[in-house]
Amino acid sequence: MANLIGVGIATLDIINSVERYPDEDAEVRAVSQRICRGGNVTNTLVVLAQLGHHCQWAGVLSDEPDGARILADLAHYQIGTALCRTIEGGKVPTSYITQNQQNGSRTIIHHRDLPEFTFRDFEQIDLASCDWLHFEGRNVADTEMMLAHVAKKSPALPCSLEIEKARPEIEVLFKYAGTLLFSKKYVSEQEDNDCPESAINFLETSHRQFPKKRMICAWGAEGAYGIDQCGVVYHSPPSPPANVIDTLGAGDTFNAAVIDSLINGQSTAEAIKNGCRIAGQKCGHIGLDFI
Ligand code: ADP
Repeated sequence: MANLIGVGIATLDIINSVERYPDEDAEVRAVSQRICRGGNVTNTLVVLAQLGHHCQWAGVLSDEPDGARILADLAHYQIGTALCRTIEGGKVPTSYITQNQQNGSRTIIHHRDLPEFTFRDFEQIDLASCDWLHFEGRNVADTEMMLAHVAKKSPALPCSLEIEKARPEIEVLFKYAGTLLFSKKYVSEQEDNDCPESAINFLETSHRQFPKKRMICAWGAEGAYGIDQCGVVYHSPPSPPANVIDTLGAGDTFNAAVIDSLINGQSTAEAIKNGCRIAGQKCGHIGLDFI
C-alpha cells in the first residue's frame, strides 16, 4: 500500500440517458438519470483506493450542497480531503451529460465557478510521507510551479501527469513528470489522425524530445500503447468485458491501474496490460465501484 496525493478537480456529473439525441428546442424525457461525483483526478483516486492505496485529494471545494455530496463520496472510499481548500459560495464544477442510447455518444455541458488549486495551496503540503504524486494537466502556470517545487524539494518522489486535453503551453509540464499519461483525444489531435500508428508515432517523437520518460496512451477499444524509458514501444490489447455497459471514467481507471503497477515496481509493458485489464473490467459496470 502506498500513500498517494492527487492534484486536480472533483466534479458533480448529472448523467441523463436519452433514447436519441434531442433536436434543438425539443423537450424530451430521460430514460434514466444518474448523479455522481466525477473529475479525472478524483476518479483515479477512487480506483487507487479500491486497489488498496491510501489516497489524498488536493483540490478546491465549494461549501455549497453539491460540495458536501462530493465530500461524502470521497469519504466512502476513505480518500482524505484535509489538503483541500474550501471556499464560501461558488459552484463545484458540474458536468451535464446527455448519453445517447442509440450510439453511446456523451455530450457534455460543463459549468464551473470555482478558483483553481494554486501553487500557494500546494506548497503548504508536507510531502515527506508521500510515495507518489499524480497531477491533472490543467491550470498550467500553477501546475508548472508545483512540479518544479517537487523536482527541487523532493526529487526522488515519483510524479505522473495526465494530459487529457490540449491546453495552451501544456507541453511545458512534460519535462517534470517521470510518467506521462496521454488521452487518445490529445494524441489524435496532435497527430491529426486516430489510427494506432498515430499513437506509436506520437510516443516515438515525444520520447526523442523528452528522453528517459515513460509515456503511455490509452487507445479506447483498441487497448493502449506505451514507451518505456529506453524508448521501447509496447501495445496491450484491450480486455473487453462480456458487455460494454459504461465507458465513462475508463481512462481515469486505466491511469489508476497503470500507477498501481508502477508503484508495485512493474514494467511499462506490465503496467499498460494491467491498465487494460482493470479498465476493461470497469467498462462492464456502471460507475467506478467495481473492484
Ligand atoms: P477515456 O475516453 O475515458 O479517456 P479510453 O476510451 O481511451 O479512455 O479508454 C481507456 C481504457 O479503457 C482503454 O485503454 C481500454 O483498456 C479500456 N476501454 C475503453 N473502451 C473499451 C471498450 N469498448 N472495450 C474494452 N476496453 C475498453
